Amino acid sequence: MQADNANPPDRKAPEERNKMTDLERLRHSCAHVMATAILRLWPDAQFASGPAVENGFYYDVELTHRITPEDFPAIEAEMKKETKANHPFERSVVTREQAMKDAQAGRLGALAERPSPSRFKLGNLADIPEGEPITYYKSGDFIDLCAGPHVMRTGNIGAFRLTSVASAYYKGDERNPQLQRIYGTAFKNKTELEAYFNMLEEAKRRDHRKIGAEMGLYVIDTEYVGPGLPLWLPKGGAIVETLEDLAKETEFAAGYVRVKTPHIAREKMYLTSGHIPLYEESMFPPIVLQERAPSQQEPGAAAPAERYYLKAMNCPHHHRIFAAEPRSYRDLPLRLAEYGCCYRYEQSGELFGLMRVRSLNMNDSHIYCTEEQFAQEFNGVNAMYLKYFKIFGIEKYVMRFSTHDPAKLGQKFVDEPALWKKTEGMVRRVLQESGINYIEVPNEAAFYGPKIDVQVWSVIGREFTLATNQVDFAVPKRFGLVYRDRDNTEKTPLCIHRAPLGTHERFIGFLIEHYAGNFPLWLAPEQVRVLTVGDEEPLVAYAKGIVDELRASRVRAEGDYTNDKINGKIQYAEQARVHTMLVVGGRDLQAGAVSVRVHGKGSLGARPRADVIADLLASVRERRA
Ligand SMILES: [Zn+2]
Ligand SMILES: [Zn+2]
Repeated sequence: MQADNANPPDRKAPEERNKMTDLERLRHSCAHVMATAILRLWPDAQFASGPAVENGFYYDVELTHRITPEDFPAIEAEMKKETKANHPFERSVVTREQAMKDAQAGRLGALAERPSPSRFKLGNLADIPEGEPITYYKSGDFIDLCAGPHVMRTGNIGAFRLTSVASAYYKGDERNPQLQRIYGTAFKNKTELEAYFNMLEEAKRRDHRKIGAEMGLYVIDTEYVGPGLPLWLPKGGAIVETLEDLAKETEFAAGYVRVKTPHIAREKMYLTSGHIPLYEESMFPPIVLQERAPSQQEPGAAAPAERYYLKAMNCPHHHRIFAAEPRSYRDLPLRLAEYGCCYRYEQSGELFGLMRVRSLNMNDSHIYCTEEQFAQEFNGVNAMYLKYFKIFGIEKYVMRFSTHDPAKLGQKFVDEPALWKKTEGMVRRVLQESGINYIEVPNEAAFYGPKIDVQVWSVIGREFTLATNQVDFAVPKRFGLVYRDRDNTEKTPLCIHRAPLGTHERFIGFLIEHYAGNFPLWLAPEQVRVLTVGDEEPLVAYAKGIVDELRASRVRAEGDYTNDKINGKIQYAEQARVHTMLVVGGRDLQAGAVSVRVHGKGSLGARPRADVIADLLASVRERRA
């Protein structure tokens, strides 16, 4: 059993519960059904909390019997009886006294009264604030203390499966008893359930950690470099460089200018930006620097120690670049771009391949503009996303537009009611007018302004958060950033934070799954390998000439000129996921031709050398899929 105490679920406020999707209701309802089944098998089971979570649900249970996957069929069989019986979920409101009494009688999270009290339910009851209704949900014999909501009947749970067991402390607190956390998932019907597990199987085959190792893209050298700090190997480095070329070319055409900034800054920077204290727990602890005294004989002359921080984001550095020169309205919009390397402190248990890391290279830019320029700039950012989606064959995406909650101004959100309204209005208008696919999510904005999370789906249907855009109307002011307007007054610019290609780490992790490691020609780490049939000199010279010609045009081409059997050489190149193999034999040499093979597609026949090279160059240049 692995410990699973990450993110103990907070008690959901009633309004958040009402936002539960149909699928979340169904899955949470299935947790009740699973508890019912467990109680049929082990009547002394004590239940704690059973929420819907991403991709399924769990229920925490205390039980002397250690539940293992071998028990799943028996539990699922009991669950089946409950869904077949099609019990309604009956809600009732009770007084706190009644709930206390029932919990003492062991009746909550149970099928009947029991000798020992429902002790975790007593604890949960104590967490329900005065004034909030206390409700039960009853399905068949099972009564639970629960705020809901649920589906109408147990029969609405079309298909379910138990998936794993972990351990977790009650309420995520290690001073509390350790419970068994039983995970499962549920869907409307069997077809959806099966599609989900097929997708998971396919995702496992396409696991970026597995393919990344097979292809030699990156390593994480925990011992010498540290956890969460990937090293890009030459083949991964080739993908990194190619993505940067794409970004630089696209951004240059869109009027961006490039900057370069150091990886650390003084504490003052982050106190001004507000990252300290707001974001401090995601930052590495400070580097305390004692400037050395000019002369070792005078230790007393040493300056006081200074605190430096590794940057967790690039914005503050860019803000200081904005501030480095006087700015006028003629300088705006100013689009500062950088593939900036940031460092974030993630708990070691949260680190995951390239997806959760501690060093990340971000496709970052900060656009400083006037209010009048905002719509056009924001539209330009969206157009860039759509361009990238097309290049990478990303067909499904959604922009989650997170807005503020006026009730939480001054706590969760910076207290600028008018600016919030105005900025959110501007963003909403652009999203509506551009016809981009978006949804609006209240109460999830960043502290400084509305944000847009870009979710994309890989070709096998798995969802990834690619990037976050933010519209910032507060931090430029904190840094005192101003431009001189037409009327000669000083004004604060708006700042758009955007990173369409996210970070190299996360985006390449996504691309590995998306392409199953079979990158298109323009992106493939090894684009072309020229293979000779035999190792005779004129043939090898011919092959080397092809490699040299391709490399002169920056095509990542290699040669295999050994005397090994050609089938073995082809197999070797296929395993390495080389995109295009050019096989040359005596006849090709005579005819000035090459025989083309494409990874996963097989032989495409012999063609004149010049035509093949021209095609390869065009495919790379146009970034063909
Ligand atoms: Zn419930
Ligand atoms: Zn930023």
